[in-house]
Amino acid sequence: QALLGRIDRLDGELNSFISVTADQALAAADAADAARGRGEAGPLTGLPLALKDIFCTRGVKTSCGSKMLDNFEAPYDATLVEKLQAAGTVSLGKTNMDEFAMGSSNENSFYGPVKNPWDLGAVPGGSSGGSAAAVAAGLVPAALGTDTGGSIRQPAAFCGITGLKPTYGRVSRYGMIAYASSLDQAGPMARTAADCALLLGAIAGHDVRDSTSVARGVPDYTATLDDSLSGLKIGLPKEYFGEGLDPAVAEAVQAAIKVYESLGATVREVSLPHTHLAIPAYYVIAPAEASSNLSRFDGVRFGHRCEDPSDLIDLYKRSRAEGFGEEVKRRILIGTHTLSEGFFDAYYTKAQQVRRLIRQDFLDAFEEVDVLMGPASPTPAFDLGANKDPVSMYLQDIYTIAINLAGIPGISVPAGFVGKRPVGLQILGSHFAEAQLLNVAHQFQ
Ligand code: GLN
Repeated sequence: QALLGRIDRLDGELNSFISVTADQALAAADAADAARGRGEAGPLTGLPLALKDIFCTRGVKTSCGSKMLDNFEAPYDATLVEKLQAAGTVSLGKTNMDEFAMGSSNENSFYGPVKNPWDLGAVPGGSSGGSAAAVAAGLVPAALGTDTGGSIRQPAAFCGITGLKPTYGRVSRYGMIAYASSLDQAGPMARTAADCALLLGAIAGHDVRDSTSVARGVPDYTATLDDSLSGLKIGLPKEYFGEGLDPAVAEAVQAAIKVYESLGATVREVSLPHTHLAIPAYYVIAPAEASSNLSRFDGVRFGHRCEDPSDLIDLYKRSRAEGFGEEVKRRILIGTHTLSEGFFDAYYTKAQQVRRLIRQDFLDAFEEVDVLMGPASPTPAFDLGANKDPVSMYLQDIYTIAINLAGIPGISVPAGFVGKRPVGLQILGSHFAEAQLLNVAHQFQ
């Protein structure tokens, strides 16, 4: 009730929620109290949280930030939602996001932009901007997001919270509306790494309904949070400290790395030589997968349907023209182009080859060091409305996108401020090294 009141007071301005599900939340809170009364409470029983509006929730609007799904109530719960409910958590609602998770500032939402709680003139980052802002403003202690090219880590950095993108396949994607299926991964966003560890433990694991989820045991991520970092080998990719990095962000990240040295870690420079190809490869692969995934929104089976179609083609055309926003249309067109006959080999096949080189860069680096560190984003949060050009927006993702292509995990942790705006330190690990990332992040907090 306290948090619902806080949402009521503050979210008119912040716009971090698309739907607040007060009645369901209060019923779930009563059920959690009853479980506690029976002595059946687990560590997450009664924990209030918020879900990015990309996760299907039965009987609750699931919009994915789009007019296309403004009238869509999911008929089933995503696996992640089921697992969080089974753990006794209490969802307060669904958070704002860039339409179909396409964006880096939350300005592509049908429901309007979200404001950054630290500075109302700044964006919260995207695409999980609503989840990040809700946690940063104390509307919820934790939220769930998804990360296809940085959408957990970059908004976490911009809002001064902790956000983890797990290894591809660590968390089921069943019931999570697909953007780019080979890159999408859900993860926790919270104040601290310790909170993220608890949440990851609840959502990770194999799911028979997602064949890309990995059948591998889920460790207790909280058990190793206090392990010593003495002897930890940290690599600083030189490509992550070059041109385009705001000197004030570089300074904050260097200061964080000094803290790790004082904790007994050693630091050396490494190279990820194909870094400059990550954005071009991503912006071929992600739109290609998106154009295929979004073909299901045809005005027949889901969501928005135009008025009085004259025939089936008219129905498809106008429903999609009316239901999708500008950025989504741009990506569908790019993806359709790169997958078309005559262009497929030149773009899509080439991008997949580049993807393999990028993955190999990381595997080579992890032969030499345990984790990589660098900035989560080249700048702190930018002003609302400041970044109008799509390519300059795409370039924002320079430090986050490569790991999605490689499938490895990454976490962003708060590392100070530039003026009023937070800076995020990004820590990257090898496949399934989430426990290590959480341990390394926790020692800094
Ligand atoms: N900003 C990137 C994009 O627009 C990443 C988004 C995401 O991770 N969902 O595609």
